[in-house]
Amino acid sequence: MSADLLNPAFTNEKAAIAHLEASRWPDGVNCPHCGSINVHRMGGKTQAGMFICNDCRDKFTARTGTIMERSHVPVHKWLLAIHLLNQGKNGASAHEIHRSLSITYKTAWFLCHRIREAMIDQKPTPMGGKGKSVQADETYYGNSSKRAKGYKKGHSHKQGVVALVEPKGRARVFHVKPATADSVRDILVRNVSRESELHTDESRLYVEVGKEFTAHKTVEHGWNQRGFYVGKDGQTTNAVENFFGNFKRGMKGTYRFCGEQHLQRYLTEFEFRHNNRSGLGVTDGERAAIALKGIEGKRLTYRISR
Ligand SMILES: [Zn+2]
Repeated sequence: MSADLLNPAFTNEKAAIAHLEASRWPDGVNCPHCGSINVHRMGGKTQAGMFICNDCRDKFTARTGTIMERSHVPVHKWLLAIHLLNQGKNGASAHEIHRSLSITYKTAWFLCHRIREAMIDQKPTPMGGKGKSVQADETYYGNSSKRAKGYKKGHSHKQGVVALVEPKGRARVFHVKPATADSVRDILVRNVSRESELHTDESRLYVEVGKEFTAHKTVEHGWNQRGFYVGKDGQTTNAVENFFGNFKRGMKGTYRFCGEQHLQRYLTEFEFRHNNRSGLGVTDGERAAIALKGIEGKRLTYRISR
């Protein structure tokens, strides 16, 4: 058990609420409904963590307007779940969360998906830029068991994933079905500065859109016995292939239990940990704190009533 887990915010509800309030309102409490700072803390015994706004008269807590709203899971369990999902390279599975937090598997599963929403980059800035490169590649993902009913060879039954990766920098990953020249172009022009060099394998998907960037350099796909292929200008696609490798290893045994409608959430989780990784100087604790900052203003797509 890491020393972090002894933090009272993970075991004591009062400490957890104080931690959440400090994270959400570092400059003082303000009303989530009208933005007023003219608020006061309510005093009753059953009103722990509750505020009232003197302007709009609405009552609220630090959970109001976040992924934790309408959840009966105590704040300290949420904080522990966020911490566990941000540990190391692979985080934790819903099964581990279920066991560690003494909540049902179903509740743990909902919690994990809500936390993935908090990991969505709300204000993405263009990737790459002048003098920089961005690697793009696509892969296919899904159950390929030959015994599965209706098994088809090839990629037609699998889910397409397109990833953009800055060498030594950020990644951005998208579930597409299927990956076509159009869907790939759409992703590239929305996310990558045209002043960047685009580095890809020799797939036809990138030929046309490649002309829209400062340069488009290609390498043979995959790796040879000496490692990844390297083009004549030193270009590779190894950053994006490493990302896919990490994702597939991390997902092994997990994806089997979730449908394609959830693939983007898992991609977002891996993208978040990649973009806030120890190699960039971000500790596990800091990563969890960044995720906690992201709990506000997310579309409430799940209702947690258990
Ligand atoms: Zn108000």
